[in-house]
Amino acid sequence: MSLRDRETIGMTFCFNSDCLDQKNEPQAVVCAACNAPLILRDRYRAERIIGQGGFGRTILAHDIQLPGNPIA
Ligand SMILES: [Zn+2]
Repeated sequence: MSLRDRETIGMTFCFNSDCLDQKNEPQAVVCAACNAPLILRDRYRAERIIGQGGFGRTILAHDIQLPGNPIA
């Protein structure tokens, strides 16, 4: 993967809803603010928060083993 490719991926978001700074570098594996893991079950990387409501945050997670098939 080239540096240019990495720049187009965007931010990685922390799964911890109490985190003070959920935005992390796209290649980060743990949150810089709270040290929470940013890779879920070794497969899913949060890419952006879709919405926030009564049930908490919905985070778009990306299956890093199956690129192109995001799950919500
Ligand atoms: Zn965090």
